[in-house]
Amino acid sequence: MKRIKIILTLLTAACLLLCPMAAQAKSTVHVDPVDFNYGDFIRGMDVSSVISLEKAGVTFKNADGKAEDLFKILSDNGVNTIRVRIWNDPFDANGNGYGGGNNDLEAAKQIGSRAAEYGLRLMVDFHYSDFWADPGKQKAPKAWAGMTLSQKEQAVYDYTFNSLAELKTAGADVCMVQIGNETNNGIAGESGAANMATLFNAGSRAVRAFDSSVLVALHFTNPERDGLVKYLADTFNNYNVDYDVYATSYYPYWHGSLENLTTQLSYVAKTYGKYTMVAETSYANTFEDSDGHENTVNANQNNTGSDLLWSFDQQGQANEVRSVMDAVNNVYGGKGIGVCYWEGAWITVGDITGKTDGDYTEQYDHNKALWEQYGCGWASSYASEYDPGDAGKYYGGSAVDNQAFFDANGKALDSLRVFREVSPLLMGDADGDGTVIINDATTVQRHTAQLTTLTGDRLKAADVNGDGKADINDATMIQKFLAGIITSL
Ligand code: CA
Repeated sequence: MKRIKIILTLLTAACLLLCPMAAQAKSTVHVDPVDFNYGDFIRGMDVSSVISLEKAGVTFKNADGKAEDLFKILSDNGVNTIRVRIWNDPFDANGNGYGGGNNDLEAAKQIGSRAAEYGLRLMVDFHYSDFWADPGKQKAPKAWAGMTLSQKEQAVYDYTFNSLAELKTAGADVCMVQIGNETNNGIAGESGAANMATLFNAGSRAVRAFDSSVLVALHFTNPERDGLVKYLADTFNNYNVDYDVYATSYYPYWHGSLENLTTQLSYVAKTYGKYTMVAETSYANTFEDSDGHENTVNANQNNTGSDLLWSFDQQGQANEVRSVMDAVNNVYGGKGIGVCYWEGAWITVGDITGKTDGDYTEQYDHNKALWEQYGCGWASSYASEYDPGDAGKYYGGSAVDNQAFFDANGKALDSLRVFREVSPLLMGDADGDGTVIINDATTVQRHTAQLTTLTGDRLKAADVNGDGKADINDATMIQKFLAGIITSL
């Protein structure tokens, strides 16, 4: 016994010596930088379900295991934009949430506000529905049922403008707004190009009136379908839809090759001068399920095909993100402006991995109760009144917990670093021109004097002493570096 105590003491001493090294441990995952053509390339992540997950008790930790705000962890790892979906009224008459994060405007305000605290901009994804909208479903909100097209046109305008105003008041830094989600075949219960164009333009006008610097995006999917991207871009050009960004979903197990993605988006960029982006992508880092709800990608489905170029591990996940960013960056004329990862933090509310029999059932029942209470699964049973054919039958947990950048305990995976490694910071380069010169010290001084405002990567690069702000001490350090008094920043 005494010997064991001595060994433990020695181990503790060794750990104390090693711990500082462990905290600085190098990531096991690496990717090469991408030479982005668009200066402020969106390295985005959709974390719409975060509020419901936190209500159910989930906490997030950085790569060292320290609990931190999810938005700080994302910002520290190079994410620069947060995407959030908004449903008009994802609740039944008794106030029970439909699930999928119960993502109403109130949730979006919390997400936008917290994102802005860490310099993250917000990309707003209006579904104009009370629950999931995609190529197969574009049901109008309950409150809009029975409206004529012109009434809906006004409703889309008012809802868009008023929601954006509320987001701004809450402190969100809105940079882009999607008029609908995966609107290949309709929007808000309307189908046919003419009616869709009317509602697209209503949303677009509202965004322009809110803030003319905010980009307007249309969002479609299925870039792999022969001629579809051309058809959509041509059609809505013919209907004079006013938008800036053609956004597509790109899930590599469904949506064709990266070469085709670049080719399709380049058509829109070259023909109509539009920006393009991937608004949703994701990739599995394991085939394990950790919450008891079957995942989209697993050992039996969506795991084979010539377009799946990456291993199903963290390195493969990081490689997929880098590859999709590269494919968008290769779009004609530098018009590829970003990639958003879909729900990179939608982890389990209770780890079921490796559990069997009674232990499995107990954990599953626990998870299911949380999905129902807080809406942190993809759908709750309460959604059946609005979506009886799909949610009503298959409601449950997360289908993408194996595509997140966090493990089942909420700890950041090494693969999350891909968002920084594709675009490394040059410390001291406050003006973002790729060099550290005297103008950078001047830029920091101007920021200090409130003559200019540094945000995002520019603020991070300016904060050379790492105290979380850019001020006169940082400007002095940059001057000392330039004078050779200190050798690195
Ligand atoms: Ca799952």
